[in-house]
Amino acid sequence: MSQNSQYPEEVDLSSCEKEPIHIIGKTQSHGVLVASDKETFRITQIGKNSGEIFGISHSDLLGKQLEELVGSEYGQFLRNLVDEDELLEVREISIHDTSFVAIPHISGESLVVDFEPVGKSANSFNFQAQLTKILNNLNASETSLELCEDVARITKNIFGYDRVMVYRFDEEWNGQVVAEEREEHLESWLGLHYPASDIPKQARELFFKNRVRIISDVNYQPVEITPQFSPINGEPLDLSKSKLRGVSPIHIEYLQNMKVGASLTAALISNGKLWGLLACHHYSARFINYYQRQTCEFLIQIFSNELSLKESNLFLKQIDKQAAVREQLLKQVHSAGSIRKGLSEGNARFTDVMDCCGGAIMLKGKIKLVGKTPDKKQVKSLIKEFLAKKSESLFFTKNLIQFYPAAKRFQDSGSGILSVRLGQSDKDFLIWFRPEVVQLVDWGGNPQNKASYDEEKQRLTPRKSFEKWTQELTGVSAAWKDYDLSAARLLRESVSYVILENQKKEINDLNDQLVEAHNELELFSQGLSHDLKAPLRGIDGYAHILKEDYYSKLEKDGKLAVDTILSSAEEMRDLIDNILSFAGVSNQDLNKSVNSSSHMVQDILVSFNVKNNYPHTSIEIEENLPKIIGDRRMLGQVWSNLLANALKYSEKAENPKIEVGSAAHHNKTIYFVKDNGIGFDPKFSEDIFDLFSRRSGDDYTGSGIGLAIAKKIVEKHDGEIWAESKPGEGSTFYFYV
Ligand code: ADP
Repeated sequence: MSQNSQYPEEVDLSSCEKEPIHIIGKTQSHGVLVASDKETFRITQIGKNSGEIFGISHSDLLGKQLEELVGSEYGQFLRNLVDEDELLEVREISIHDTSFVAIPHISGESLVVDFEPVGKSANSFNFQAQLTKILNNLNASETSLELCEDVARITKNIFGYDRVMVYRFDEEWNGQVVAEEREEHLESWLGLHYPASDIPKQARELFFKNRVRIISDVNYQPVEITPQFSPINGEPLDLSKSKLRGVSPIHIEYLQNMKVGASLTAALISNGKLWGLLACHHYSARFINYYQRQTCEFLIQIFSNELSLKESNLFLKQIDKQAAVREQLLKQVHSAGSIRKGLSEGNARFTDVMDCCGGAIMLKGKIKLVGKTPDKKQVKSLIKEFLAKKSESLFFTKNLIQFYPAAKRFQDSGSGILSVRLGQSDKDFLIWFRPEVVQLVDWGGNPQNKASYDEEKQRLTPRKSFEKWTQELTGVSAAWKDYDLSAARLLRESVSYVILENQKKEINDLNDQLVEAHNELELFSQGLSHDLKAPLRGIDGYAHILKEDYYSKLEKDGKLAVDTILSSAEEMRDLIDNILSFAGVSNQDLNKSVNSSSHMVQDILVSFNVKNNYPHTSIEIEENLPKIIGDRRMLGQVWSNLLANALKYSEKAENPKIEVGSAAHHNKTIYFVKDNGIGFDPKFSEDIFDLFSRRSGDDYTGSGIGLAIAKKIVEKHDGEIWAESKPGEGSTFYFYV
């Protein structure tokens, strides 16, 4: 292991994932790595095998100009590339009469050049022929599996490795050998599984930067890069993009345990995701030169394209099939007028949108089961205790027991579930179930013995045995595929839409009922007021007769009684008028016009006969009170109620005073009526606008309707009305329309 300070001296057992293989500080031995300052081209770091390969020792080269090693012409070529920020290009150059492939790239502040021997020179005709063959072959393969078999065969033919495998990752990054070509004397590894830890995460990520990678000699002596830290920034050199990057000692030991002598690994990518690997093993050292690796890169590029195409086609096919079922389901929902029935009772059932053994619908807490499923009680508990607590609307697993141990009781019908929440409710769910599929998984060595800590080596060592190890997997269903998830999501969307429409309809119906009830109430109150007015006229009429014709004959008590009847009758008439007017506001259309607020206020005060009725009250009206737009009659009622209250509730003040004015606020004119009367507790400032709400005690007559009418009118004009007050200090009422 490197002495590099960033490379942990001790690796804990769980940390294969943390091994920083990109700054390993070493290279493989078949080429030399030379790093120079990308600004000055002064050589800053170099592989210690430079003496062996170039015939010039590393100490002679460090600190020199790169041109001294590569010549001025190639030096200039590199400078142009760096200046123009071009993707660095590969060239063949000669150093001390030996030809090398120079592969440059930029790593941080350094220009790194990997020098590899050209090796067996590629015959361009052969190369051409190979490419044509690759294209024809891969185009012809029909399924993904066939494609894998073809790529394994072609790779073996071209590069001559002893064993070529196509290795596919599952959703947990365990791998399985899905295609294999091998020398006859080798045992087959086809179908074997390898645990995710065999290719840890950071190694998988490096495949995106360096898609084809060789280890030319598993038993090579790693070459140290000297000095260990870059003199430019004191950091170890990042070798992510170097073709010569040294191999993790754990991986070397892993290959040694497999008796492998050389390897080539290439990333297979489908739709932007690492789908698998093309893994080639040779049982002795084997160097594949740069050009051959390019061919391999081309091969896997075509493979990846073909694969993406095949997988996308499969996806689209499934989506098409599901779309037809979904359409049918929605038709059923509409014609049945019920989501539950539509999804579970017609020709199509919601369980038909994907492969499953059964499903459950829960709507408003009521469950309906279709096909083979856990029983209702079990489904109810699953939703209540597990699914309803999840914040995501979609959940899926092929191994429910792992998350919800109670699932052990229904393994045969629900080892795997895919569920969607409908709408926002935790009482509406759709669930698909998959049964347990007992699987015999053949592992390449017992995956539980994946690694152990080696005291002597002070690091992890991989498992020693790769003998087939069969594991029985229980409680696990077939995996849910991308297109299953998409089917669930799409159905969820459609059903949620129907639920939303239903809710809207329910709200509309309720609204209609409310309007009807309101109309009835208005008719009722109008009728009632009308009916009350007739007897009232009788009472009032006869009381007037009593007063006019018999008053003088009455005793004092009798006179008081007649006066009380008359004043009560008048109060009653006002009350009835007010109720009628309150009920009437909502029915009346607005007849808008521009009105002079000053005139309105003046007219109202005249009608109140203020001079006689409130002789002590001083009234101040803002000069040029702005005009007001709205229904003249209704706005008159607003002013009238506010002014009447101001006069009434300030009457007993020492120097009663009323102010009427306005203020401009955000393009609106706010009018106010202010008095210095009794005021009210601010906690009632909203409540006083409610019908029949009175907060002034019995000293003041009133019905508690005036402000309710004012509010209704203002709101009908899309305006607002509010009040500010303190007990004993007067009140101000504001409104705008
Ligand atoms: P009424 O005045 O007939 O009681 P309103 O609906 O006009 O009914 O007013 C409701 C309540 O609001 C009144 O009972 C009173 O408590 C309070 N109020 C209204 N205007 C004022 C005011 N200018 N000063 C103090 N309190 C008021």
